[in-house]
Amino acid sequence: MNINLVRARADTPGVKYVAHLNNAGASLAPKPVIDAVMGHLRLESELGPYEAAERARVAVERGHSALADLLNCHSDEIAMFESATRAWGAALSSIALGPGDRVLISPMEYGSSYLSFLHLARRTGVQLEVLPVDADGLVDVAELRDHIDERVKLIAMTHVPMHDGLIYPVAAIGRVAREHGITYLVDASQSIGQLPVDVRQIGCDMLVGCGRKFLRGPRGTGFLYARREFAEQLSPGTVGLDGVEWDGVGYRFAPAARRFDTWETNCATRIGLGVAVDYALSWGIENTWHRIRELAAGLRVDLASIPGITVEDRGRERCGTIALTVHGQAAELVRAELQRAGINTWVCLSNAACVDMRRRGISSLLRVSVHYYNSAEELARLCTVLESLTVGPALKVAS
Ligand SMILES: *Cc1c(COP(=O)(O)O)cnc(C)c1O
Repeated sequence: MNINLVRARADTPGVKYVAHLNNAGASLAPKPVIDAVMGHLRLESELGPYEAAERARVAVERGHSALADLLNCHSDEIAMFESATRAWGAALSSIALGPGDRVLISPMEYGSSYLSFLHLARRTGVQLEVLPVDADGLVDVAELRDHIDERVKLIAMTHVPMHDGLIYPVAAIGRVAREHGITYLVDASQSIGQLPVDVRQIGCDMLVGCGRKFLRGPRGTGFLYARREFAEQLSPGTVGLDGVEWDGVGYRFAPAARRFDTWETNCATRIGLGVAVDYALSWGIENTWHRIRELAAGLRVDLASIPGITVEDRGRERCGTIALTVHGQAAELVRAELQRAGINTWVCLSNAACVDMRRRGISSLLRVSVHYYNSAEELARLCTVLESLTVGPALKVAS
């Protein structure tokens, strides 16, 4: 089914002010999400925050069950965090790993995720190994098998990286992990809300994501999925009321992923996340994905036809994120020019996608990321401004 663009844009107040092509950073929120968050803040100010939470209990809880619907899992397999980085850290610190254990990752890990692994290696003595990739930037599944022995205890993959349109074959890698009984962790921060993410089909033990990117939820929201039987063995680094069953003497962890929950939370943003997921489900992820792919594929062709612009992203199948370099122009200055023209994009620096960008010798990329609510006119405007920059003199920092 096609996306009704008129309705999508009418639901998105921000499109009146800006052509937002920074959806991989954080999307413009739709009206139902804005209303839910602001409505709850108002309720807190009128009833008292605890009293407002009691009144809104069902809406606060909906975050868990809505994500479960989206990911094809149970609501007790979901834990909430204020970012994907927090969820990632909680996941890594709850797995039993020790000196000599091998951890295999791809070079596409987000900077903070990679740092978490460096930290894990320092804390526990695990051996971190970055897998080689093919010309399309992908980990080769046959090659992955060659790296496996009984010391490999964890495989971690990023579904879609923050700096490139490529999509990782996470389900094929999941099959290898399962064959060998290796714990499998997936970073879906960029794919969630953009393309179908089904944890059963991927076959992962854990998966993290955030709310503000393609899900169009509030900032400061993230989540962890942990498969029920797997989660029962996890020992969280933080425990608190809500994460345990506690009789005043002894305690037991709450079922599955609920053991990661703590009592205090930002109710307004959690409600907003649940609404964002329901809103995404109402459009249909398949429909969203179809439109994003179509818009991005057309835009890649248009951008590549502009002399001086190189589309840098790889992959056999690509998503709504496009990475560019503009010959002779610094990405930061191009972004500033675009922003002046009312077009939001972003610059990926090599410390955010450390391994891959450093390996390729790229220090910065201009990132353009489209969502289903973007219009053809916005994309044409982007191309016009970029075209004018490639023929002009090199941009300079305003003094
Ligand atoms: C944004 C991002 C993260 C981190 O998410 P936060 O919510 O900012 O912590 C992790 N991985 C990828 C691929 C991302 O794009």
